[in-house]
Amino acid sequence: MTDFAATKALFHLPDGIVYLDGNSLGPLPRAAAARVSQTVTDEWGEMLITGWNKAGWMALPMALGDRIGRLIGAEPGHVVTGDTLSIKVYQALASALAMRPDRRVILSDTGNFPSDLYITQGLVKMLGDGYELRLVAPEEVAEAITDDIAVTLLTEVDYRTGRKHDMAALTAKAHAVGALAIWDLAHSAGAIEVDVAGAGADFAVGCTYKYLNGGPGAPAFIYVAPRHADQAPPALSGWLGHAAPFAFDLDYRAGAGIERMRVGTPPILQMRALDCALDIWDSVDMAALRARSIELSERFIAGVEAACPTLTLASPRDPQNRGSQVSFRFDQGYAAMQALIDRGLIGDFRAPDIMRFGFTPLYLDEADIDRAIEIIADVIDNALWDQPQYMERKAVT
Ligand SMILES: *Cc1c(COP(=O)(O)O)cnc(C)c1O
Repeated sequence: MTDFAATKALFHLPDGIVYLDGNSLGPLPRAAAARVSQTVTDEWGEMLITGWNKAGWMALPMALGDRIGRLIGAEPGHVVTGDTLSIKVYQALASALAMRPDRRVILSDTGNFPSDLYITQGLVKMLGDGYELRLVAPEEVAEAITDDIAVTLLTEVDYRTGRKHDMAALTAKAHAVGALAIWDLAHSAGAIEVDVAGAGADFAVGCTYKYLNGGPGAPAFIYVAPRHADQAPPALSGWLGHAAPFAFDLDYRAGAGIERMRVGTPPILQMRALDCALDIWDSVDMAALRARSIELSERFIAGVEAACPTLTLASPRDPQNRGSQVSFRFDQGYAAMQALIDRGLIGDFRAPDIMRFGFTPLYLDEADIDRAIEIIADVIDNALWDQPQYMERKAVT
């Protein structure tokens, strides 16, 4: 079991704030500032370049990968961290396409996050030669998996609505037609139970600054199934994915297994912050986390629906079909969210009308949920959002 009161004490949350946006950027683990500072002064400061060996910097991408691997059901030694999620999407997709050279179609859905679609569009354009991105509605994915599909590129949990795909079933369908399945776990890792190995995923990618609390700009991760790890051709063949980076050969030779998905120099300061966040995750049982997330989300939905009939639930009502976020539609959603933030409840807004709230049991409890419901009821029922200062759109919503 997991002691969620104990994990809550390990995070810094500003006074007077209820934070329902850990699905976008997790809060600061209390130990992170000292850990990063120590890396700066004792390692970078004192060790200089010898830190790569002495302080274990070079091994960090794999070590962190394994700790994330436990949270997503990956086999040890098959996850590596580095770069950003958009880059990892590119790597997974380019490798998977190269492994299905006789096919040209990438299947995704209209609920996928734009960066995944944009990266795909860019790669399709670069490849030319009849490659195509085929987009269908999320509920039509299963029937759209036909025998011309090379790769399915799906995000398990929809960033807007929280709708959750059935990873095992869709992966099985992809395999049945000879396609490969890539899963984006941006809203799954640290949010719900994931079993990439059990589901048979071929590739999985995700970020660490959302539910995993690695901090703004924390590195992404990539998983390649053991059966493909030594075959998947790396498209971004940087020197740190080479079999022998310090041989400085003129020709690229892919490293063993998942190491080939490394590209260049890892961001050590960011990785130390992530390391610190993963110390907390080491104590967490994912089944207990999921149960707690459902409890908190159900309490929130019941409270908001009872208090605010003008808000419409945009997320699946059955918690088994949801990730760890709840969204409501409201036509003045942007202004309403600004008014909530002004009163200490932080969620976010996704165009055109989605008010989004993330549920993160590591640092939220019933009192936070009840406070959130009170603030929402006040803002919506008294139209407190109807002020000019809440209408003006900021760059980041
Ligand atoms: C958050 C998110 C991203 C963001 O990619 P970055 O490269 O980290 O900016 C990409 N895809 C999905 C599905 C996301 O939810």
